[in-house]
Amino acid sequence: MNNTPVISFEFFPPKTAEGMTKLHAAREQLAQLRPKFFSVTFGAGGSTRDRTLETVLEIKARGTEAAPHLSCISSTRDEILAILTQYREQGIRHLVALRGDHPSGEVAASDFHYANELVEFIRKETGDWFEIEVAAYPEFHPESPSARADLEAFKRKANAGANAAITQYFYNADAYFRFMDECTAMGISIPVVPGVMPIYNFAQLSRFSAVCGAEIPRWLRLRLQDYGEDLPSLRSFGLDVVTELCDRLLQGGAPGLHFYTLNQAGTISTICQRLGL
Ligand code: FAD
Repeated sequence: MNNTPVISFEFFPPKTAEGMTKLHAAREQLAQLRPKFFSVTFGAGGSTRDRTLETVLEIKARGTEAAPHLSCISSTRDEILAILTQYREQGIRHLVALRGDHPSGEVAASDFHYANELVEFIRKETGDWFEIEVAAYPEFHPESPSARADLEAFKRKANAGANAAITQYFYNADAYFRFMDECTAMGISIPVVPGVMPIYNFAQLSRFSAVCGAEIPRWLRLRLQDYGEDLPSLRSFGLDVVTELCDRLLQGGAPGLHFYTLNQAGTISTICQRLGL
């Protein structure tokens, strides 16, 4: 196993005071695992801009590195530059750079079409100030016409100056290992950290997976369906499945793990403890 896996945790910026209290508790618990950073998502088109910044500043003030996500779809260069300037002024040096999903309804004018353009823009405007993460898709992005086209899109992001990547979640370790083999063959050498989605709720996981193109393998789907409303049993089974997945990924050379926390800490703390992290 890699001796020093890089661990990071992703939060979303809460909308309510109750959500904020829940996030504080999760952050405190997960900070004990000494992650490299906490990241905070960003609503496409800038819908969470202020809340993302607020959440990031709070994390930073409590002593952990914070990396805001930044999506560029439906944004102008001036809007993105204003956000980058604000982050620099606040001493933020780490970003997760994304295209974002096309918002439904009216489409606002955008100076950016793909994430590689955002990475290029950040490097042009801010040099090496930011450590930049981008997204990777071991099961391939749902809009991509082919696996090859998606790998080439990933390579463009690495060539544009990304330092590392975080993957979409998956439950099939072989998809990740094959993806890494392809990256090596194509000369892509940035670290690619698996994104890990704990299993809390089957209906919610099915919804997320349908949108983002992550496959729930048949054996797993059928087992999860069988638990029905019995959430404690479903979560206990999910905990075993996800812990084994993480273990296999680290044993197979993954440089770390990035957990999609959904602002909850309990299951993830248990996974990390079982893994000895
Ligand atoms: P891109 O890398 O631009 O790829 C998007 C699609 O376009 C792919 O199909 C790719 O193959 C294709 N493509 C790329 N370049 C070209 C080209 N030149 N010509 C033709 N096709 C091309 N979304 C949010 O809104 N906010 C978040 O905070 C957020 N956080 C995320 C964090 C992680 C770790 C991940 C994995 C995803 C996150 N997302 C987030 C979702 C992400 O925005 C969507 O998956 C989005 O659809 C693609 O973003 P991307 O940066 O991967 O886009």
